[in-house]
Amino acid sequence: MVTDMSSNEIELLIGDQINLPSPPAIAAQILNTIQNEESSLDDLEKIITADPALTSKLLRIANSAFYSLPYEVGNVNRALSILGTNVIKNIALSFVIASDLHEGEESSFDFDYFWRRSVTVGVAAELVMGLLPEKNEDIFVTALLQDIGILIMYLSKGSEYTAILEQCLVNGGTDLIRSEQKMYQFDHQQLGHTLLQSWGIPQSIVGPILYHHEPDLAPEEHQRTCSVLNMANLLGIIYSGTENAHNLQELQTKMADFFDITADQTRSLLDDVAEKSLDILNIFEIDPGQMKPYSQMLQEANDELGKLNISYEQLVLELKESKEKSERFANELRKANSRLEELAFRDGLTNLYNHRYFQEILGKEMARAKRYNDSLCLILFDIDFFKRVNDTFGHPGGDQVLIELAQAINKAVRPCDIIARYGGEEFAVILPQTSETGLKVFAERLRRCAASVTTIIKKNPVKITISCGGVHLSPSDNVTQQEFINTVDSALFLSKDNGRNCVTILPITSTAN
Ligand code: GH3
Ligand code: MG
Ligand code: MG
Repeated sequence: MVTDMSSNEIELLIGDQINLPSPPAIAAQILNTIQNEESSLDDLEKIITADPALTSKLLRIANSAFYSLPYEVGNVNRALSILGTNVIKNIALSFVIASDLHEGEESSFDFDYFWRRSVTVGVAAELVMGLLPEKNEDIFVTALLQDIGILIMYLSKGSEYTAILEQCLVNGGTDLIRSEQKMYQFDHQQLGHTLLQSWGIPQSIVGPILYHHEPDLAPEEHQRTCSVLNMANLLGIIYSGTENAHNLQELQTKMADFFDITADQTRSLLDDVAEKSLDILNIFEIDPGQMKPYSQMLQEANDELGKLNISYEQLVLELKESKEKSERFANELRKANSRLEELAFRDGLTNLYNHRYFQEILGKEMARAKRYNDSLCLILFDIDFFKRVNDTFGHPGGDQVLIELAQAINKAVRPCDIIARYGGEEFAVILPQTSETGLKVFAERLRRCAASVTTIIKKNPVKITISCGGVHLSPSDNVTQQEFINTVDSALFLSKDNGRNCVTILPITSTAN
């Protein structure tokens, strides 16, 4: 606010730039009546009752929670005598001015927002005042009209002014005052004051309006009212601003500092403001927007937070489930892979290890035996006269014999022994950690085992014998894998040569030796 200008100079400055509107007709009549010492209560009643819409709104407000009267007020006369001329006059002025300055058409200025905020601030001011020892019947209308300068600025300056407003309004008034001063050399406090004064609104109302953003500059008699307006503005900002936690903090501190009102009282006041404002907005026919009590806003925010937590937990659960699913899947995949590998190592007919795997494992076993200073034995055996079986019972019959022999031999070996189908009707057995004596005993057992197998082919019992060759390898023996196999093969050949169905053990021979 520019203090080095007289109020006359400011009025001239305003008059140069702003076309001040005249008061709404009914407002002018009401104000005239109040000022005229000869007029009576009846005159005010007549003015109000001449306007049925005004009358009904006035009675609704008189009967609303705002005044919480213990009985119903049925007519303007009753309202005047119960609530007093001043209160009724103020309510009537509020209605008339608010509805007159409420443009319905589309514009860059949000009239609903403006009046919603003004009503909220009016209600807040009335409630704050109620907590104080002193009385001020004008506080509602003073708070309601304190920002009327903003409306008039917009009506004169249009979008040039809304640009300034958008920047400042939500963040509180002082930025706005400074911007207005910079732009027009006067602010909305001075404009509102000048306008309402020209309408004949009493000094008790227009005086504090001149300082509502700057209570410290107000003359002594208005300071208290200006502080209440300032507090009401803070309450109003909580219902229209964004940084509510910060604003609530500031409000609680100021309420305690200025008025000795506790933080708890302030919080419950805050809820009261919303509840009563909703009531009044309804009667004023102003869109309440999203307004709801602060505690409800907090509750809803908490509920949202709760929902977020639940969905977070759900997410974790789903993640866990899908992790378990993928682990199960990976496990099955591993099993399937190892089954596939097994299949690749197995012989399709007998399910014994195949030749490729036999070669691979023999290499490993030879290396291991050497490393651990162990002996290792190898047996090759071949079915005697197997061609006859095929010739007599057909190839499938021969297969049957191969299968049953494999099963019988599989049972006869130790778990650590490796038995493979070497090729055709010839088999190999790797015997780790086995001495030469052990080899002889085992080869004999193998021969007897084969001889004991009876395969029934087309109801005919079929018996076979095998010829075995075996070789024992000491850790000190230096032979290649092929030399080892060749020696065993020679032993098998000797068994065939010796009349079959027998075992031949040969000492290892190396071509290099
Ligand atoms: P020997 O005592 O000298 O070993 O006589 P043999 O008849 O067993 O030997 P030979 O090598 O003359 O014949 C082997 C036969 O084994 C010939 C072949 O058809 C048969 N044979 C090889 N593999 C299979 C097979 O998977 N299934 C069947 N049914 N017969 C097979
Ligand atoms: Mg044979
Ligand atoms: Mg053969």
